[in-house]
Amino acid sequence: MPNYDLHCHSTASDGLLAPAELVRRAAGNGVDILALTDHDEICGLAEARAQAQALGLRFIDGVEVSITWGGTTIHVVGLNLDPDDQQLQHGLHAIRQGRAERAKKMAEDLARAGIPGSLEGAYAYVENPNLIGRTHFARFLAEKRYVSDVKSAFQQYLVSGKPGYVPHQWATLEEALGYIKAGGGIAVLAHPGRYKLTRAEMRKFLGEFKDGGGAGIEVITSSHTPEQFLEYAILAREFGFLASRGSDFHGPGESRVDLGKLPDLAADLKPIWHDW
Ligand code: AMP
Ligand code: MN
Ligand code: MN
Ligand code: MN
Repeated sequence: MPNYDLHCHSTASDGLLAPAELVRRAAGNGVDILALTDHDEICGLAEARAQAQALGLRFIDGVEVSITWGGTTIHVVGLNLDPDDQQLQHGLHAIRQGRAERAKKMAEDLARAGIPGSLEGAYAYVENPNLIGRTHFARFLAEKRYVSDVKSAFQQYLVSGKPGYVPHQWATLEEALGYIKAGGGIAVLAHPGRYKLTRAEMRKFLGEFKDGGGAGIEVITSSHTPEQFLEYAILAREFGFLASRGSDFHGPGESRVDLGKLPDLAADLKPIWHDW
Protein backbone atom coordinates (compact mmCIF):
# COMPACT_ATOMS: atom_id res chain seq x y z
CA MET A 1 0.00 0.00 0.00
CA PRO A 2 1.48 3.41 -0.92
CA ASN A 3 2.16 5.62 2.08
CA TYR A 4 -0.61 8.24 2.21
CA ASP A 5 -0.44 11.04 4.79
CA LEU A 6 -3.48 13.25 4.32
CA HIS A 7 -3.36 15.56 7.33
CA CYS A 8 -0.55 17.86 8.48
CA HIS A 9 0.26 21.49 9.27
CA SER A 10 2.83 24.05 8.15
CA THR A 11 3.75 27.56 9.29
CA ALA A 12 0.77 28.73 7.22
CA SER A 13 -1.19 27.75 10.33
CA ASP A 14 0.17 26.23 13.55
CA GLY A 15 2.84 23.88 12.23
CA LEU A 16 6.54 24.46 12.92
CA LEU A 17 7.91 23.74 9.43
CA ALA A 18 7.53 25.86 6.30
CA PRO A 19 5.51 24.11 3.59
CA ALA A 20 8.59 23.13 1.55
CA GLU A 21 10.43 21.84 4.63
CA LEU A 22 7.40 19.78 5.56
CA VAL A 23 7.32 18.20 2.10
CA ARG A 24 11.06 17.39 2.28
CA ARG A 25 10.54 15.72 5.64
CA ALA A 26 7.58 13.73 4.29
CA ALA A 27 9.67 12.54 1.33
CA GLY A 28 12.48 11.55 3.69
CA ASN A 29 10.00 9.57 5.78
CA GLY A 30 8.81 7.60 2.76
CA VAL A 31 5.48 9.34 2.21
CA ASP A 32 4.26 8.75 -1.36
CA ILE A 33 1.18 11.00 -1.35
CA LEU A 34 0.95 14.02 0.95
CA ALA A 35 -1.90 16.45 1.67
CA LEU A 36 -1.20 19.73 3.45
CA THR A 37 -4.22 20.66 5.57
CA ASP A 38 -3.59 23.91 7.41
CA HIS A 39 -6.29 25.30 9.70
CA ASP A 40 -8.73 27.50 7.75
CA GLU A 41 -5.92 28.46 5.36
CA ILE A 42 -4.63 27.44 1.94
CA CYS A 43 -1.81 29.95 1.41
CA GLY A 44 0.87 27.27 1.98
CA LEU A 45 -0.30 24.96 -0.79
CA ALA A 46 1.58 26.51 -3.73
CA GLU A 47 4.97 26.27 -2.00
CA ALA A 48 4.29 22.71 -0.87
CA ARG A 49 3.12 21.64 -4.32
CA ALA A 50 6.19 23.09 -6.01
CA GLN A 51 8.50 21.24 -3.61
CA ALA A 52 6.53 18.02 -4.02
CA GLN A 53 6.81 18.26 -7.81
CA ALA A 54 10.56 18.78 -7.54
CA LEU A 55 10.87 15.65 -5.40
CA GLY A 56 8.44 13.49 -7.39
CA LEU A 57 6.01 13.20 -4.50
CA ARG A 58 2.28 13.29 -5.25
CA PHE A 59 0.65 16.28 -3.58
CA ILE A 60 -2.99 16.80 -2.61
CA ASP A 61 -4.36 20.28 -1.92
CA GLY A 62 -6.16 20.30 1.42
CA VAL A 63 -7.43 22.35 4.34
CA GLU A 64 -8.73 21.69 7.86
CA VAL A 65 -11.87 23.71 8.48
CA SER A 66 -12.98 24.70 12.00
CA ILE A 67 -16.69 24.38 12.67
CA THR A 68 -19.02 24.68 15.65
CA TRP A 69 -21.66 22.00 15.98
CA GLY A 70 -24.01 22.06 18.94
CA GLY A 71 -21.44 24.03 20.95
CA THR A 72 -18.58 21.65 20.15
CA THR A 73 -15.61 22.60 17.97
CA ILE A 74 -15.14 20.02 15.22
CA HIS A 75 -12.60 19.87 12.41
CA VAL A 76 -13.46 18.90 8.85
CA VAL A 77 -10.66 18.20 6.39
CA GLY A 78 -11.21 19.09 2.74
CA LEU A 79 -9.08 17.17 0.26
CA ASN A 80 -8.35 17.46 -3.44
CA LEU A 81 -9.76 20.93 -3.75
CA ASP A 82 -9.06 23.85 -6.05
CA PRO A 83 -7.20 26.52 -4.06
CA ASP A 84 -8.15 29.13 -6.67
CA ASP A 85 -11.88 28.74 -6.07
CA GLN A 86 -13.31 32.10 -4.96
CA GLN A 87 -16.11 30.72 -2.82
CA LEU A 88 -13.67 28.51 -0.91
CA GLN A 89 -11.25 31.41 -0.46
CA HIS A 90 -13.96 33.77 0.79
CA GLY A 91 -15.35 31.16 3.16
CA LEU A 92 -11.96 30.44 4.72
CA HIS A 93 -11.24 34.16 4.96
CA ALA A 94 -14.47 34.62 6.91
CA ILE A 95 -13.55 31.80 9.33
CA ARG A 96 -10.09 33.32 9.95
CA GLN A 97 -11.56 36.76 10.70
CA GLY A 98 -12.38 36.12 14.35
CA ARG A 99 -8.96 34.75 15.31
CA ALA A 100 -7.17 38.05 16.05
CA GLU A 101 -9.98 39.27 18.32
CA ARG A 102 -10.16 35.91 20.06
CA ALA A 103 -6.39 36.01 20.64
CA LYS A 104 -6.68 39.41 22.30
CA LYS A 105 -9.34 38.07 24.66
CA MET A 106 -7.26 34.97 25.39
CA ALA A 107 -4.33 37.19 26.33
CA GLU A 108 -6.56 39.32 28.58
CA ASP A 109 -7.78 36.21 30.35
CA LEU A 110 -4.23 34.89 30.80
CA ALA A 111 -3.20 38.31 32.16
CA ARG A 112 -6.00 38.08 34.74
CA ALA A 113 -4.56 34.69 35.71
CA GLY A 114 -1.15 36.32 36.28
CA ILE A 115 0.44 35.71 32.90
CA PRO A 116 1.36 38.98 31.18
CA GLY A 117 2.61 39.49 27.63
CA SER A 118 1.06 36.43 26.05
CA LEU A 119 -0.33 38.20 22.98
CA GLU A 120 3.10 39.41 21.89
CA GLY A 121 4.58 36.12 23.07
CA ALA A 122 2.18 34.09 20.96
CA TYR A 123 2.62 36.30 17.91
CA ALA A 124 6.36 35.66 18.10
CA TYR A 125 5.50 32.09 16.99
CA VAL A 126 3.13 33.20 14.23
CA GLU A 127 4.33 33.19 10.62
CA ASN A 128 0.96 33.91 9.05
CA PRO A 129 -0.51 36.97 10.80
CA ASN A 130 -4.01 35.91 9.68
CA LEU A 131 -3.77 32.71 11.60
CA ILE A 132 -3.07 32.98 15.29
CA GLY A 133 -4.28 30.00 17.26
CA ARG A 134 -4.09 28.30 20.61
CA THR A 135 -0.93 26.39 19.67
CA HIS A 136 0.99 29.66 19.41
CA PHE A 137 -0.09 30.54 22.95
CA ALA A 138 0.84 27.04 24.09
CA ARG A 139 4.38 27.51 22.72
CA PHE A 140 4.69 30.81 24.57
CA LEU A 141 3.48 29.20 27.84
CA ALA A 142 6.06 26.43 27.44
CA GLU A 143 8.84 28.86 26.54
CA LYS A 144 8.19 30.91 29.69
CA ARG A 145 8.01 27.70 31.76
CA TYR A 146 4.43 28.21 32.88
CA VAL A 147 4.06 24.63 31.66
CA SER A 148 6.58 21.91 30.87
CA ASP A 149 5.57 21.45 27.24
CA VAL A 150 2.96 22.31 24.63
CA LYS A 151 0.80 19.33 25.50
CA SER A 152 0.62 20.37 29.16
CA ALA A 153 -0.39 23.87 28.09
CA PHE A 154 -3.59 22.28 26.77
CA GLN A 155 -4.22 20.65 30.13
CA GLN A 156 -3.66 23.61 32.42
CA TYR A 157 -4.65 26.45 30.08
CA LEU A 158 -6.45 27.22 26.80
CA VAL A 159 -9.24 24.66 27.21
CA SER A 160 -12.78 25.08 28.55
CA GLY A 161 -12.75 25.96 32.24
CA LYS A 162 -9.05 26.96 32.28
CA PRO A 163 -7.35 30.35 31.96
CA GLY A 164 -6.89 31.53 28.38
CA TYR A 165 -9.96 29.78 27.03
CA VAL A 166 -12.30 31.92 24.99
CA PRO A 167 -15.32 30.21 23.44
CA HIS A 168 -15.52 30.84 19.74
CA GLN A 169 -18.12 30.47 17.02
CA TRP A 170 -16.55 28.89 13.93
CA ALA A 171 -18.34 28.05 10.67
CA THR A 172 -21.46 25.89 10.65
CA LEU A 173 -21.26 22.34 9.32
CA GLU A 174 -23.33 23.39 6.30
CA GLU A 175 -21.01 26.30 5.53
CA ALA A 176 -17.86 24.17 5.78
CA LEU A 177 -19.31 21.45 3.56
CA GLY A 178 -20.43 24.16 1.13
CA TYR A 179 -16.97 25.71 0.87
CA ILE A 180 -15.30 22.34 0.35
CA LYS A 181 -17.84 21.36 -2.26
CA ALA A 182 -17.47 24.71 -4.03
CA GLY A 183 -13.75 23.99 -4.30
CA GLY A 184 -14.51 20.56 -5.78
CA GLY A 185 -13.06 18.84 -2.72
CA ILE A 186 -14.06 15.87 -0.64
CA ALA A 187 -14.97 16.34 3.06
CA VAL A 188 -13.46 14.14 5.77
CA LEU A 189 -14.20 14.28 9.49
CA ALA A 190 -10.86 14.90 11.26
CA HIS A 191 -9.82 12.79 14.28
CA PRO A 192 -13.36 11.77 15.36
CA GLY A 193 -12.06 10.24 18.59
CA ARG A 194 -10.96 13.62 19.91
CA TYR A 195 -14.34 15.23 20.43
CA LYS A 196 -16.12 15.25 23.74
CA LEU A 197 -19.33 13.84 22.29
CA THR A 198 -21.35 10.96 23.66
CA ARG A 199 -21.80 7.94 21.40
CA ALA A 200 -25.31 9.14 20.58
CA GLU A 201 -24.08 12.64 19.75
CA MET A 202 -21.30 11.24 17.55
CA ARG A 203 -23.80 9.15 15.64
CA LYS A 204 -26.06 12.17 15.24
CA PHE A 205 -23.14 14.19 13.93
CA LEU A 206 -22.09 11.44 11.52
CA GLY A 207 -25.63 11.28 10.17
CA GLU A 208 -25.78 15.04 9.59
CA PHE A 209 -22.28 15.02 8.12
CA LYS A 210 -23.21 12.27 5.69
CA ASP A 211 -26.54 13.91 4.75
CA GLY A 212 -24.70 17.18 4.10
CA GLY A 213 -22.31 15.52 1.68
CA GLY A 214 -19.45 14.47 3.97
CA ALA A 215 -17.70 11.50 2.38
CA GLY A 216 -15.10 10.20 4.79
CA ILE A 217 -13.72 9.96 8.30
CA GLU A 218 -10.18 9.68 9.58
CA VAL A 219 -9.74 6.20 10.98
CA ILE A 220 -5.95 6.17 11.25
CA THR A 221 -4.78 9.39 12.94
CA SER A 222 -2.23 10.17 15.65
CA SER A 223 -5.15 11.22 17.85
CA HIS A 224 -6.52 7.67 18.01
CA THR A 225 -5.56 4.76 20.23
CA PRO A 226 -5.42 1.28 18.68
CA GLU A 227 -8.89 0.69 20.15
CA GLN A 228 -10.14 3.79 18.36
CA PHE A 229 -8.66 2.55 15.06
CA LEU A 230 -11.11 -0.34 15.40
CA GLU A 231 -13.99 1.74 16.75
CA TYR A 232 -13.93 4.22 13.86
CA ALA A 233 -13.33 1.50 11.27
CA ILE A 234 -16.62 -0.01 12.47
CA LEU A 235 -18.40 3.35 12.18
CA ALA A 236 -16.92 3.92 8.70
CA ARG A 237 -18.32 0.57 7.56
CA GLU A 238 -21.68 1.14 9.20
CA PHE A 239 -22.22 4.65 7.79
CA GLY A 240 -20.59 3.89 4.45
CA PHE A 241 -17.80 6.42 4.90
CA LEU A 242 -14.52 6.31 3.01
CA ALA A 243 -11.59 5.94 5.40
CA SER A 244 -8.65 8.34 5.67
CA ARG A 245 -5.18 8.24 7.16
CA GLY A 246 -3.19 11.22 8.38
CA SER A 247 -0.59 12.03 11.01
CA ASP A 248 -1.80 15.56 11.96
CA PHE A 249 1.91 16.33 12.24
CA HIS A 250 2.66 19.82 13.60
CA GLY A 251 6.42 19.70 14.10
CA PRO A 252 9.46 17.78 15.27
CA GLY A 253 9.59 17.47 19.03
CA GLU A 254 5.96 18.51 19.32
CA SER A 255 4.08 15.74 17.55
CA ARG A 256 4.07 12.20 18.82
CA VAL A 257 3.67 10.73 15.33
CA ASP A 258 5.89 11.82 12.46
CA LEU A 259 4.80 12.26 8.84
CA GLY A 260 3.83 8.94 7.28
CA LYS A 261 4.59 6.92 10.42
CA LEU A 262 1.16 5.39 10.91
CA PRO A 263 -0.40 1.93 10.70
CA ASP A 264 -2.14 1.00 7.43
CA LEU A 265 -5.89 1.19 7.00
CA ALA A 266 -7.67 -2.12 7.46
CA ALA A 267 -7.75 -3.87 4.07
CA ASP A 268 -11.55 -4.03 3.82
CA LEU A 269 -12.09 -0.30 4.33
CA LYS A 270 -12.61 1.76 1.18
CA PRO A 271 -9.86 4.39 1.27
CA ILE A 272 -10.61 8.04 0.60
CA TRP A 273 -8.15 7.83 -2.31
CA HIS A 274 -9.89 4.88 -4.02
CA ASP A 275 -10.72 6.87 -7.15
CA TRP A 276 -7.81 9.35 -7.24
P1 AMP B 1 -7.37 26.64 17.53
O1 AMP B 1 -7.84 26.32 16.13
O2 AMP B 1 -6.66 27.94 17.60
O3 AMP B 1 -8.47 26.51 18.56
O4 AMP B 1 -6.27 25.58 17.90
C1 AMP B 1 -6.51 24.20 17.73
C2 AMP B 1 -5.17 23.50 17.74
O5 AMP B 1 -4.67 23.41 19.04
C3 AMP B 1 -5.24 22.06 17.27
O6 AMP B 1 -5.19 21.96 15.89
C4 AMP B 1 -3.99 21.49 17.87
O7 AMP B 1 -2.88 21.84 17.08
C5 AMP B 1 -3.90 22.25 19.18
N1 AMP B 1 -4.43 21.46 20.30
C6 AMP B 1 -5.68 21.40 20.75
N2 AMP B 1 -5.77 20.56 21.81
C7 AMP B 1 -4.54 20.06 22.00
C8 AMP B 1 -3.95 19.13 22.92
N3 AMP B 1 -4.67 18.56 23.89
N4 AMP B 1 -2.63 18.87 22.80
C9 AMP B 1 -1.88 19.45 21.86
N5 AMP B 1 -2.37 20.32 20.96
C10 AMP B 1 -3.67 20.62 21.03
MN1 MN C 1 -3.26 22.52 14.98
MN1 MN D 1 -7.72 19.18 14.15
MN1 MN E 1 -4.89 19.11 12.22
